[in-house]
Amino acid sequence: MWEFREGGNEKGNIKHLDLVLIDQKGDAIYAEIPPDVIPILKPQLCEKLIIFIGKFVVEKAKPGYKVVQNPYMLRLNRRTTIAKSNAHDLEFPKYTFSLTPIEILPQFVKNKERFLDVLGKITAVSNPAVVRNTVGDIMMRRIIKLQDLRGNTIDLSLSGMQVLEFDGDAVLKIGEKNHIIAIFVGTLMKQYKDGTQFLSGTSACCWYINENDVPAIKAFQRSLPLDATAVEKIDLPNEDQTHVAFEEKNLLQLNDIDPFTQKGERYQCTVTIIGIPDKQLWCYRACRTCSAKMISTSDGFQCTKDGGCPSKQFEWKYKIPFIVADNTFSLEFMMFERRATELIGKSAETLRKYNDPDIIPSDIS
Ligand SMILES: [Zn+2]
Repeated sequence: MWEFREGGNEKGNIKHLDLVLIDQKGDAIYAEIPPDVIPILKPQLCEKLIIFIGKFVVEKAKPGYKVVQNPYMLRLNRRTTIAKSNAHDLEFPKYTFSLTPIEILPQFVKNKERFLDVLGKITAVSNPAVVRNTVGDIMMRRIIKLQDLRGNTIDLSLSGMQVLEFDGDAVLKIGEKNHIIAIFVGTLMKQYKDGTQFLSGTSACCWYINENDVPAIKAFQRSLPLDATAVEKIDLPNEDQTHVAFEEKNLLQLNDIDPFTQKGERYQCTVTIIGIPDKQLWCYRACRTCSAKMISTSDGFQCTKDGGCPSKQFEWKYKIPFIVADNTFSLEFMMFERRATELIGKSAETLRKYNDPDIIPSDIS
């Protein structure tokens, strides 16, 4: 059970509470609880609980970020009933995962179709550290190194609350003399600007460590020599939080930047918002899988992502133009979903219900 927040960020508004349910036969399904129902249902739920559940809706699974392989998903609602079962937990499987070998992980970089589940031996763990992410936000991070039986390795990066939930001290202590074999589920392959690839623990991420009732973990343990090399401690430095992350530029200097040769560079500038341009759209149809623009075709909507994307479903997201000025120049900027939601306090989906895309709602102006 985990919360999915706007922008995948802990500070974002909660979009839904997510569950994975497993039945007695071991079949698993993803279930989603919308924000208005969370206060009613969440207090009745916790992980590992065995429940009877009634009055829910079965839908086609969403096209992206699949947690389990199942063509369908459940949507819970305010009429959903939940009752505790007396069944013994031994009758129910406790885990569901579909392992991806470490050596083929690179082909999943930027792939948002499904989450990845990975098995490996933990060879190193970092301390929790406060760092700045690629968007410039301050966040907690912990790095864990995983290695397969052939010696292939991958760095896994945990962020947010999961940094502290992962008991790094225990892993280091027990790992002095023992092999630590872990399965991490709910991860995504990502790439830093310098090309380094890593696994990112999402809010859906959880882990099973040295669980002897997981055959894959047991088999991995048996394939290793009896003597274990100690788990190494990585020293991850805390970033100086008073440090200015980006170079300051005025608008005239920003206007001189060549977007072809200097693409992806980041600066900061201090400006005044002087207006919103007329006759422009404030939102767009975003692909539910990759957030690219969706266009209308003869058979429904189609995603315009380079290289293709099979998704047919869209949601409204912000793309708000605004004009800013300082004492050197004035420029048009664009604000996208995450920042706009933080500022406005409502989702684009909500505002779209009462406003046309070509008329700026009063909540924005
Ligand atoms: Zn797409």
